[in-house]
Amino acid sequence: EPSESISIQTLKTAIPQAIWQFLERSAIASQARGWHLYVVGGAVRDLLLAQGGRAANGRSFLQDIDLVVDGFHNAADAGAGVELAKALQQEYPQARLEVHGAFQTAALLWHKDPILHSLAVDIATARTEFYPYPAANPEVEASSIRQDLYRRDFTINALALRLTAPHKGELLDFFGGILDLKSRQVRVLHANSFIEDPTRIYRAVRFAVRLGFTLEPQTEQYIRYAIESGVYDRLRLTHDKAPALTTRLKSELKYILETHYWKPALQLLSSLGALRCLHPQLKLTPQLWWQVRFLDRCLQRFDPNRRMIHWEMRLEALIASLPSEERAPVATHLQLSGETIERLKQLEKNRQRIAQSLSTDLRPSKIVMALRAYKLPTLVLLALKGSRTVRQQIWQYLTCWSQISAPLDGNDLKSLGYNPGPQFKEMLDALLWAKLDGAIADRSDAEVFLQKHYPVSQ
Ligand code: ATP
Repeated sequence: EPSESISIQTLKTAIPQAIWQFLERSAIASQARGWHLYVVGGAVRDLLLAQGGRAANGRSFLQDIDLVVDGFHNAADAGAGVELAKALQQEYPQARLEVHGAFQTAALLWHKDPILHSLAVDIATARTEFYPYPAANPEVEASSIRQDLYRRDFTINALALRLTAPHKGELLDFFGGILDLKSRQVRVLHANSFIEDPTRIYRAVRFAVRLGFTLEPQTEQYIRYAIESGVYDRLRLTHDKAPALTTRLKSELKYILETHYWKPALQLLSSLGALRCLHPQLKLTPQLWWQVRFLDRCLQRFDPNRRMIHWEMRLEALIASLPSEERAPVATHLQLSGETIERLKQLEKNRQRIAQSLSTDLRPSKIVMALRAYKLPTLVLLALKGSRTVRQQIWQYLTCWSQISAPLDGNDLKSLGYNPGPQFKEMLDALLWAKLDGAIADRSDAEVFLQKHYPVSQ
């Protein structure tokens, strides 16, 4: 039996006071109903990491708390989690209650609360029905919290901290999670874990990179075995039957590509062969690796205010490395945005068009003429895929020439005596080209230019 525990005093200092108070109230409400209550998952992991003097890097500490109520196999207590959440909401009327009936889970959510900020608490009922533990061990039968922990992903996420008496503060560690936290390893609970749920491969990579852990060697073998045995290929083929799995995979991908550690994570995914989940031919070649980093420079430079969806652009760059006819289907399968799908659909056509119209020694006006019809995300993709010349010209266009405008506008033309009409656009363009190519600089040059090419009397 696991026996480590954290003293109440330590918990009180480690956990923000208002959250501790919430946990105490939750424990009292559970005890009153004859239930046990545990904190499980990431919060326990991060608490122990913080105890070891390491900040739980990348996660806002204790803003997401998972609680599990152990209702002791009493069928009448199947909805224990929901009942507890409802009771707590009476005490915390400012929290929003969400009930997910099918799984007997509930959530209490605070939003911009002056004390609890955006705390999110998930409350589940310990359940055993999913992956029954080998029946040989009768002691296990009696413990539904153990079975609840057993269906989790990694040992470091399968720790539970008891909040109810007796043994309040006790750490349940059935699978060696504390040791793995100390030796900084991501270890799966059983050999079939990745076959059962291939999104766990992405989770393993995410935790390893984020926490600075290694993949425990056997776990890495299981990952490679699962990928070689075709979990991802099946996933693609069975999408229509299991769209939820694709959705979860996409959200893990998104999670990874959004973080600041996406580069090492992508490298690790690639070295494990996990990019197969997108397409069997997707490989992080040196060229593609260069492209995604170039993309990053473009995003930082041209989209500092994040109008574009950066994680999706990263994914687009990966998908763009596939043969052109494969791109849109992959993006559609992942249910990426309509714009992304369209961009990937048009990419090859646009690439060819740009390759024809851009060449060396072009005047700036010609470059602007060729590029101004495209929006920023398309230009960035075209720069990635283009030759060195194309890339340099797109870069020049974005940093410099696209900012230049004609020295006069439509109102100026009117006050110079021209009659508004379709020729205005042509005249303004002619002025812009002349300015870009250095033929004119200021307003008076522009007026001279107009008198010469577009005499007012005409
Ligand atoms: P984070 O700090 O990123 O929020 P977390 O550990 O809280 O990390 P969540 O994705 O919020 O991660 O999941 C909460 C808990 O649910 C995990 O700690 C893990 O125990 C369990 N879990 C989540 N996804 C899976 C999965 N695919 N398979 C098994 N267990 C999972």
